[in-house]
Amino acid sequence: MAWPRLVINQHKLRNNVRSVVKVCKENSITIAGVTKGLCAHPIIAEIMISEGCSWLADSRMTNLIQLRTLFPDVSLMLLRIPMPSEIPFLVRYTDCSLVSMPQTIKMINSCCESLNCRHGIMVMCDLGDLREGILAEDMPEMLETLKSSPNVECIGVGVNFGCFGGVLPSEDKLSDLVNAGKAIEEGIGKKLTFFSGGATSSLSLIEKGNMPPEINQLRIGEAFFLGTDTTGMRTIPSLNQDVMHLEAEIVEIRRKPSRPFGKIGADAFGNIPVFPDRGNRLRAIVAVGKQDVRISGLCPFGSGIEILGASSDHLLLDIEDHHEELNVGSILKFAVDYSAMLSLSTSPYVEVEVAG
Ligand SMILES: *Cc1c(COP(=O)(O)O)cnc(C)c1O
Repeated sequence: MAWPRLVINQHKLRNNVRSVVKVCKENSITIAGVTKGLCAHPIIAEIMISEGCSWLADSRMTNLIQLRTLFPDVSLMLLRIPMPSEIPFLVRYTDCSLVSMPQTIKMINSCCESLNCRHGIMVMCDLGDLREGILAEDMPEMLETLKSSPNVECIGVGVNFGCFGGVLPSEDKLSDLVNAGKAIEEGIGKKLTFFSGGATSSLSLIEKGNMPPEINQLRIGEAFFLGTDTTGMRTIPSLNQDVMHLEAEIVEIRRKPSRPFGKIGADAFGNIPVFPDRGNRLRAIVAVGKQDVRISGLCPFGSGIEILGASSDHLLLDIEDHHEELNVGSILKFAVDYSAMLSLSTSPYVEVEVAG
């Protein structure tokens, strides 16, 4: 058994997937299960498939190639708009990519021509969040490109919210997406299969009953993994918020002054630290650090434990007010947010354990 460890309760995860799939189904919405938050872990992907996600989606080609090998028949979507250098791989291993650049579509088209195949795309529309996507004025050029790219099949339109600009999904914005999709249908003379109305943050529209009826797909990760909606700044009722936690081991416990003593320079990351004087306090060092996890995304289980800071390999805690006795070798648990989950699942130093 090795620490640090990210422990995932598969029953709680399964229940989250099941309940999101169910509400979406009642609203004629299918789900692309987004695996990138846990680095496309095979057990997690299998749970998404068996609970009714009709697609799996990931932002990284390496994750998608692994998924393709394990699940030859599942529909796979590349979430990050493609790098030109990965086009030969996405054409071979995935069924659909999210795209925003006409140049990229032309490159996909010529790659498909030379391989004598076709590739599906969804055109991303930027409705204000200012990450990827076309603006309204870019539609004519997009339509021209689609019409002259016979090996690229436009199967839908999609949008992101809350990824860069923090823009929230709304009925109005999703109606704009539907209209963009209708403009494409008219322009290319073909119906679109998917109106992909966003991610976890769009679930709130279903709950409030104001999701436009044309929206028929969402791409969901965070709600499954954490039961939260970071963009909407809320926990999602009826989902488990305790699917996973971090476990790490204590390597030092000592009562020490709360202020560093000596002449003060910068810390290991070039910042000049400032600490209030709270007298002597019981401190613990936990063997986990910035190489393992984004520290600001952690929240210790149990009361009276406070995160003081961290270096590459050490997490410093004030445990003066904690009621239980802790020792060297004690395991502490931490709740994780999306950023902590992402960093933990991509650190080679962290073991991921799917339990239950
Ligand atoms: C990560 C991602 C998602 C999933 O977002 P969640 O908030 O985790 O549900 C959906 N779409 C795209 C394009 C993404 O990059």
